Amino acid sequence: EFTRPPTGVLAPRRRTRKIRVGKVFIGGDAPISVQSMTNTLTADVNATLQQIAKLTAAGCDIVRVAVPSQDDVDALPAIASRSQIPVVADIHFNPKYVIAAIEAGCAAVRVNPGNIKAFDNKIAEIARSATEHGTGLRIGINAGSLDKRLHRLYETDPAGALVQSALNEARLFEDVGFRDFAISVKHHDPVIMVEAYRRLSQACDYPLHLGVTEAGPAFQGTIKSSVAFGALLAEGIGDTIRVSLSADPVQEVKVGGKILEALNLRPRQFEIVSCPSCGRAQVDVYTLAEQVTEAMKDMTIPIRVAVMGCVVNGPGEAREADLGVASGNGKGQIIVKGKVIKTVPEDAIVETLIEEANKIAADFPEQ
Ligand code: SF4
Repeated sequence: EFTRPPTGVLAPRRRTRKIRVGKVFIGGDAPISVQSMTNTLTADVNATLQQIAKLTAAGCDIVRVAVPSQDDVDALPAIASRSQIPVVADIHFNPKYVIAAIEAGCAAVRVNPGNIKAFDNKIAEIARSATEHGTGLRIGINAGSLDKRLHRLYETDPAGALVQSALNEARLFEDVGFRDFAISVKHHDPVIMVEAYRRLSQACDYPLHLGVTEAGPAFQGTIKSSVAFGALLAEGIGDTIRVSLSADPVQEVKVGGKILEALNLRPRQFEIVSCPSCGRAQVDVYTLAEQVTEAMKDMTIPIRVAVMGCVVNGPGEAREADLGVASGNGKGQIIVKGKVIKTVPEDAIVETLIEEANKIAADFPEQ
């Protein structure tokens, strides 16, 4: 009998206010969303929309575009109206662009108060315009552009300075009756970042956008983000995430999605359970695992496939998967839902697994 042991989430989600970013909600009981950012010139509408389409296909829920110039502002109406997912304008330095982005139909605007001089006296105008258009905001605090007034505190308590900056800016919006915003307090050091978000989540109930900023190239950035997000999400902290990588943003979306899947915060799709191989392996596990992953990575049903190098843990792990192979003696026992259905030669393992996966997919109820 095939029975998979129960799993679940590590902590109840912390209750936050819910805000709307176009067709996506952030906070409250809304699913944790994955964000990314285009790296095209925003003014190049076609290139930007093409990249947004790729990000959407990879599972991105919300996309941000940089708006450093008037040409970029001018491109926003076309991008916002033609993107399949909500578009957030990322604005530094120029408060006029914030209003322009709201009027252009962006679903939200990210403001960085540390970089917007004379921002404080524009708050009422921004809040009024955002309310009128149903636009959300993100107060995006970043260690690299922290308000100068907090530099002293930052030297001794960087997490405290990030939180203080966020709360100061939040209060300015609260004072004019505006609360439809998320907050981020990003830092490149996961330890400081985790500490900042923990404290922020104690201090307010605004939805939190998690990010380890400037996390590095794909390998390091994936690890830093996974560790930091994992620590926070395991405590129920975090409503939307952005993995920052010095790499193709599609990669960011995939990593973000997998982090949520790993913690059962998003339904799992294809998942491989493969052993590290050792002196007992009777098959080339690495090649087999790569080939299976490559062949099945785009499956949209929740399917767990076990690829095991020998019979020590092989049959057990394969039994807990939907589908698996336990190798031995140049052959592979193919296991479906806990039962060995056949034994095939090593060079037929991958194709047999794919065949069986397709059968499972065909029987999977329409979503
Ligand atoms: Fe080694 Fe077998 Fe375990 Fe793979 S399943 S790591 S080959 S003992």
